[in-house]
Amino acid sequence: MPDPAGAPGRVVLPGALAGRLVAQAQRAMPGKVFGYFLATRRFGDPVEYLVMRTNTRDAEPDLFSPYGRYFADHSDAGFVCAPRESLAVERYLSRHGLHKVGVFHSHQRHPGFLTTVDADLHPAPDLWHLLVVLRNPYYPLLRAFAAPAGRRITEMSVVISPAAGPAP
Ligand SMILES: [Zn+2]
Repeated sequence: MPDPAGAPGRVVLPGALAGRLVAQAQRAMPGKVFGYFLATRRFGDPVEYLVMRTNTRDAEPDLFSPYGRYFADHSDAGFVCAPRESLAVERYLSRHGLHKVGVFHSHQRHPGFLTTVDADLHPAPDLWHLLVVLRNPYYPLLRAFAAPAGRRITEMSVVISPAAGPAP
């Protein structure tokens, strides 16, 4: 979780969860994956993730047009999930007592830091943002960032825990 004092925190991912996410991102290539990490309490360590299935970015050209040709030229760049899927996620969370603690997406061409559009469209300041960097798909990298409102983006450490679930 982000440190309340302002120091960058760390993201603790169960090894099995991290492995599943990386494998899913690799399988999705040349498509991207994006979604949420979920925990049993606010700011807790993630116990699962959800990959979004819808992407309505082509229906919202105005959202990405300020960022230039890159988004017009690369149909896999940029993503917006459909409102009905956001609603389904919220229902799932309340039914299972889960909380969103972070977001993620995969990078295929970009290096392991948040681009301007990543930072501008980061959904909420209390969520961290993890990148699955697959520039070399055989050497995936996980990098996480805190993006608190009105403060600069800082990198967080990513710790892979051997346990299958959260620490007691
Ligand atoms: Zn990105």
